[in-house]
Amino acid sequence: MKIGVLTSGGDAPGMNACIRAVVRSSIYMSHEVFGINKGYNGLIKGDIFQMNLSSVADIIHRGGTILGTARSDEFMTEEGRKKAVEVLKIYGIEGLVLIGGDGTFRGALELAKLGIKVIAIPATIDNDLGFTDYTIGFMTATETAVDAISKLRDTSSSHGRANVVEVMGRNCGDIALMAGLAGGAETIIVPEVDFSEEDLLKKALNGVHRGKKHHIIVVAEGAIDSYKVARELEEKAGIETKVTILGHIQRGGVPTVFDRIMASSMGNFAVNLLNEGKGGLALSFTCNRVIEMDIAKALDTKKKFNEDMLKIANILSI
Ligand code: ATP
Repeated sequence: MKIGVLTSGGDAPGMNACIRAVVRSSIYMSHEVFGINKGYNGLIKGDIFQMNLSSVADIIHRGGTILGTARSDEFMTEEGRKKAVEVLKIYGIEGLVLIGGDGTFRGALELAKLGIKVIAIPATIDNDLGFTDYTIGFMTATETAVDAISKLRDTSSSHGRANVVEVMGRNCGDIALMAGLAGGAETIIVPEVDFSEEDLLKKALNGVHRGKKHHIIVVAEGAIDSYKVARELEEKAGIETKVTILGHIQRGGVPTVFDRIMASSMGNFAVNLLNEGKGGLALSFTCNRVIEMDIAKALDTKKKFNEDMLKIANILSI
């Protein structure tokens, strides 16, 4: 069987480890494997090359994706998707492993409807997919955020300042929640939970009264304007406040052990499914196991925010 692999949407640390797992597992099972450059754009354009064992040498520890990634408007159209299917036919590729986030999975569903055997692997730093407890890249991005929080805490404490640290996550507060908890933030602001200005100010002032030298507020992008939070702390609590927006630094870096393990397991699992003649499936990490599920069903599962974890973070930062 000829198997294609591509990465799509935002890049995430661990994508390379996943490509490596797909390529090596395919060759181990005597399949031919083809890399598709730059996501669905490369698929439509036929930007495809055969991969071998050495194509994925020395990449398990590298962030980014050797195949490149892109957002493809053309693939959003029926015509574009038909072109993609034609290209797959020309190359004789029957099975596809797609590595990406929500949009990539929606594209995978459309390809499955057109008769292509697809297996989609969740990889996005946001951890914003409802059907899986984990998406590849999340832990590495969260480590980067915690590292930044720890560094900002040092300088904050020296100057007696507050720091608003804005992290990524699109509409999902998971990076903010986990980085805030692990970084010992006093306040965590996420889109899933209403923001209380009163709580923010009360906590900050309590901290000042008991002689705290720093105050860290972690804000998930899309939850609130970080500069507005800083202004409130300065104007209403009289605390000098700096804003740091971490941005794309969270996308890069050496993938953590957990991301490499997830990527390796999922990549191998995907090829096993194709080897058994299966397709139309999404991989999910649920209750500490990689499992497969129907893509349409996966996309219908709504993401639940971990409010218990936020409660713990709030209790520990009183
Ligand atoms: P991230 O979560 O990191 O942003 P993503 O996979 O969600 O990753 P998107 O840009 O949303 O990133 O999607 C990647 C690509 O998938 C899009 O550029 C588009 O080509 C394709 N895609 C998205 N939604 C659909 C859809 N409904 N039908 C077909 N293709 C889609």
